[in-house]
Amino acid sequence: MTDIKTTLKALGLDASTLQKGELEIVTPVDGSVIARVPATPVGEVGNVVARAQTAFEAWRTVPAPRRGELIRLFGEELRRHKDDLGRLVTFEAGKIFEEGKGEVQEMIDICDFAVGLSRQLYGLTIASERPGHRMMETWHPIGPVAVISAFNFPVAVWSWNTALAIVCGDPVIWKPSEKTPLTAFACAKLFEQAVKKLGDVPANLVQVVVGKADVGEALVDDPRVPLVSATGSCRMGRAVAPRVAARLGRSLLELGGNNGMIVAPSADLDLVVPGTVFSAVGTAGQRCTSLRRAFIHEDVYDQLVPRLKKAYGSVRIGSPLEAGTLVGPLIDGRAFESMQAALDQARADGGKVTGGERALQDRFPNAWYVSPALVEMPSQTEIVRTETFAPILYLMKYRELDDAVARHNDVPQGLSSCIFTTDLREAEAFMSAAGSDTGIVNVNIGPSGAEIGGAFGGEKETGGGRESGSDSWKAYMRRATNTINYSRELPLAQGIKFDLGD
Ligand code: NAD
Repeated sequence: MTDIKTTLKALGLDASTLQKGELEIVTPVDGSVIARVPATPVGEVGNVVARAQTAFEAWRTVPAPRRGELIRLFGEELRRHKDDLGRLVTFEAGKIFEEGKGEVQEMIDICDFAVGLSRQLYGLTIASERPGHRMMETWHPIGPVAVISAFNFPVAVWSWNTALAIVCGDPVIWKPSEKTPLTAFACAKLFEQAVKKLGDVPANLVQVVVGKADVGEALVDDPRVPLVSATGSCRMGRAVAPRVAARLGRSLLELGGNNGMIVAPSADLDLVVPGTVFSAVGTAGQRCTSLRRAFIHEDVYDQLVPRLKKAYGSVRIGSPLEAGTLVGPLIDGRAFESMQAALDQARADGGKVTGGERALQDRFPNAWYVSPALVEMPSQTEIVRTETFAPILYLMKYRELDDAVARHNDVPQGLSSCIFTTDLREAEAFMSAAGSDTGIVNVNIGPSGAEIGGAFGGEKETGGGRESGSDSWKAYMRRATNTINYSRELPLAQGIKFDLGD
């Protein structure tokens, strides 16, 4: 397998220049330091915003289809470098190479979507109540967009935001997770290639700032940034949202999930088993949409749980760079500790834990591999209601669907959910107004692995934001309602007479 230096080089980055900063970048693959990068001084963030503002003034008047052409070229760069960037994602975030490439495929897909969108930034025309008048809506670029992203989807989430923002006419300032800046540098390089190919593009359409929360806060507080799109934990959202609100800016929040599944008596267990394993152990349980809670009907519980245990026993834990591995490492030792603390609490609450131990310690003493855990719980205790960013799946029994739905909804988060059933009534009830309260609601597939065509995001403490497909683009634009009078009179709305008496 190609090493980190070769991977960086293939993406236009020089490993030797990435050894001089205070932020140590540790690969979760084996715990070694792969780079040292400088953080952006907090005092510099204002200058970055000023440059984005200048870029905005030029870019907003470029016709949207030409803005789309830039994203089409960027998509071509991504196609060319899919394996290299996918591998860098694996080095930096620890997800298996297949998932790293999958993340890049998602970037390619959103580029295609955004290119089409660049010719479809439609507004409505509206019937006016006044004679000789016409009303319409126009959509305009909003300004520099700050994108704050999490470690676990280091490139895809940025691209959902950026592909849309760029075709909508907005420059982007990206603050990646302090754990994954290398993938950000690589994406910026590929974007630069697309800019060169198109030519006559304002400088600084995409800028990267690196650092921890303080760098993010400087962006969040800047009134020249009308939209802050922030992906990460609910804790981060609670810090960011009030700061943006304090200056009456807009925030688009994509925060934590605690995603549930209902397995009904009619479920096709041949779908449930692989669907569960992919959703719960994929990316070592470090997806915002990872399956964390299963409500299994008591009539099928004793059939399903042994099958799940058997399937869990067969998943290959190993280096994410090696073919055949299904479960790679946790991001770091803190993630391991929080997984162990959650399992201890679950045991104290009466849970029966299978798995969850540290794995491959001899081969990777400085990395944090674990066997995924299944936890049979007597009830949905507080620890089950908490998002632990690790491969833990809590299993609970239910008898009545209404009760399962109520328990499913009884968590603070509202990102993704699913039901496995072949009963149409149950499926529809789960998707109805009285059903699951999450932003993504699936039938007969797991809660993770969303397609870019749909709007992505969740309710309650997940933050309410929507990114990616459908009409999510509207968040990246400002809407103007225009009323045009083509008559020779000046009738007022609501029939008001305002007689000046001459
Ligand atoms: P995190 O909250 O620790 O960090 C996310 C980003 O926010 C990082 O770039 C971090 O530097 C920044 N940040 C933290 N505090 C900040 C502050 N006060 N001001 C500005 N920026 C700040 O999250 P993480 O550990 O990187 O990622 C895991 C979490 O992200 C999980 O909770 C997961 O569910 C969530 N997530 C959600 C989605 C989604 O679309 N809903 C997608 C991916 C991850």
